[in-house]
Formats: sequence, C-alpha cells, structure tokens
Amino acid sequence: MVRIAKVFTDLPLSQSQLAPKGIIEFCEVCEKCARECPSESIPEGPRTYEGFNEANNPGALKWYCNADTCLDYWREVGSGCSICFRVCNFTKEEGVSHGIVKWFIRNVPQLNGFWVWADDMMGYGKMADPREYWEKP
Ligand code: SF4
Ligand code: SF4
Repeated sequence: MVRIAKVFTDLPLSQSQLAPKGIIEFCEVCEKCARECPSESIPEGPRTYEGFNEANNPGALKWYCNADTCLDYWREVGSGCSICFRVCNFTKEEGVSHGIVKWFIRNVPQLNGFWVWADDMMGYGKMADPREYWEKP
C-alpha cells in the first residue's frame, strides 16, 4: 500500500516482525490484483526469483511487478491507477468481521478460495462513482 522505490540508509534499524502467516498462501489462491491489473503488470502463477527488467531487484522469491508496463499505463490514463490497491482483499478497515476473516486466513487456509469469492460478492474493490465523493455537500 505504499510506493517506496528505494531508501538507502545506515540507520541502525532493528529487524521488523515477520508478516503474519497465511498471506502468501492466500495470495496464491486470490490473484485478484493480477486479474484486475489493466496493464497485466502483475503476474499470475507461482512466485519467482527473477524480475521483469532492470526496475526489479531479483533474487527474492516473490511476485515481481513489471514497473515499465505499469508506468506506461499511468502515463496513458494520466493518473496513478492503484487498481491493484483497490481490489486487494487486505485493503480493509479494521473491524470485528474482518478480524475474524484474518483469523481464518491464518489458521484455515482451506477456506481461502471462499474468502476471495465472498470479497467479490460483497462488492469490495469495485470502483466508486467519483461524483459520490466530489458532489457531497
Ligand atoms: S498500479 Fe495499476 S497498472 Fe500498475 S500494477 Fe497496479 S493495477 Fe497494474
Ligand atoms: S489482491 Fe491482495 S490478497 Fe489478492 S493476490 Fe493481490 S496482494 Fe494478494
């Protein structure tokens, strides 16, 4: 949910906590950002150690984003797109019901496909009508 490219520092930073378990397994089932990306910059399928081009720093097992085609799309539409942010199942406000879903994602990965389906059914990630925001009194 951030667009930091590279930050160089010699600050003595402590190791951050590991991400909660279950996220990778959930993404493997979800692939919603890859499906919805208009420039097909996010790959479907398993993670790799190789990036797309010199904009990627290879060597880590992950899903690399093709920054070239992503930025081409930004230029084409004249905005920062962010559809992948909008559709992500984890882009949710804190709350009891979302906390329960996170518990299941961490502990019962067999239900991951159901949560992706439920996210679609709930209409999360749909583009809102901008007039609803700009024309608010
Ligand atoms: S910002 Fe848009 S074009 Fe870029 S990866 Fe996300 S969805 Fe794709
Ligand atoms: S939309 Fe979010 S949860 Fe789904 S695969 Fe992409 S990053 Fe993972």
